[in-house]
Amino acid sequence: MGRSEELFERAKRVIPGGVNSPVRAFGSVGLTPRFISRADRQKIYDADGRAYTDYVGSWGPMILGHNHPVVREAVERAVKDGLSFGAATEHEVEMAELVCGAVPSVELVRMVNSGTEAVMSAVRAARGFTDRDKLVKFAGCYHGHSDAMLVKAGSGVMTAGVPDSAGVPASCARDTLTAAYNDLESVELLFAENPGRIAAVIVEPVAANMGVVEPAGGFLKGLRRLCDENGAALIFDEVITGFRLAFGGAQERYGVEADLVTYGKIIGAGMPVGAYGGRREIMERVAPVGSVYQAGTLSGNPVAMAAGLAQLRYLREHPEVYAHIESLGRRLRAGLREAAPGCAVTGAGSLCCLFFTPGPVVDYTTAKAADTARFARYFRFLLDRGIYTAPSQFEALFLSDAHTEGDVDALAACIADFFRTEK
Ligand code: PLP
Repeated sequence: MGRSEELFERAKRVIPGGVNSPVRAFGSVGLTPRFISRADRQKIYDADGRAYTDYVGSWGPMILGHNHPVVREAVERAVKDGLSFGAATEHEVEMAELVCGAVPSVELVRMVNSGTEAVMSAVRAARGFTDRDKLVKFAGCYHGHSDAMLVKAGSGVMTAGVPDSAGVPASCARDTLTAAYNDLESVELLFAENPGRIAAVIVEPVAANMGVVEPAGGFLKGLRRLCDENGAALIFDEVITGFRLAFGGAQERYGVEADLVTYGKIIGAGMPVGAYGGRREIMERVAPVGSVYQAGTLSGNPVAMAAGLAQLRYLREHPEVYAHIESLGRRLRAGLREAAPGCAVTGAGSLCCLFFTPGPVVDYTTAKAADTARFARYFRFLLDRGIYTAPSQFEALFLSDAHTEGDVDALAACIADFFRTEK
């Protein structure tokens, strides 16, 4: 028995399913999860000392690769001054200035500790501002695990085939209406059926939690128009896309401004951080200025801020990072198209996905058509050859600045081998 197997047996005795987040379980691909002991640049190393080229990147935060010296040194410096004060710090001011400076639609921003919290809080701000209760989300988009968002969610919920979560009161889910991604008419219909009652439309501008599904031309602009016409807030959940698809995120890439935006992952550089922000008149409703309550003991934690600030400053000062990961993404998608006949290859910038269905994949229904048993065989083939990808068909391959052309060519070659040798 290897060390990962041993640790998993111990973990199962004291942690539900042996993991602290269901997406880390390898159950859907029929394996024991690898326990990771360290990571450097584009490599991670498991408890048995095996090295893997990593295309998960902690599910997105590690855009510079693991153990980047600039981030590590910032954390080491911050730790020396104390771990948490529960009081305001200069780090937080610098972080807020940086985010507001990077994203024109964000005039005020509040730091929290996870993407889930960011979304939960942004939704509350939108409801408080509009004095309406209903929300529109899209089937297959994942916005964290708060009650109202676990309706037709993507990511792990989609992988496990659980349409909704037990434990979510019907009363919480009742106000969450679902539309079809890339289908403006489905949104129009919900506005028509619920006049004056929809507080917000929340969307992953690139749906990275049902694989990677790009917005069709005009989709995001159409959402902007529908929200304006109906007095609803448009919330972009940029927990994955923020500071990844461009320094200004999906809003910059697609030229559409949201009223509220949520962040996580990259802004924490691997530390537990989230943020929500947006138009001043909405964010001024948040306590202590306004009556929308939201708080956090560890929010804006100085060590987490130091890590995130170091990564964001590096990205701002090194636009060549974006050029590099964009070009790797294009190269990988071209390689996959050649390597994987009959499969849909999707992506945007440094996010890619290989779907085991001919596609086109444009929404939840077409994504769900993928052959997950075949995906599981592919996953195991890659893992055996030292390539670590998300153990789910409905997650992205994440590229980082530490990846090289050689890495993505090796990945495409390995996938070509899989298709050649598959029985
Ligand atoms: N929103 C999106 C788009 C996400 O991808 C995620 C997590 O993957 C979340 C929200 C929730 O973030 P967290 O896991 O930090 O709570």
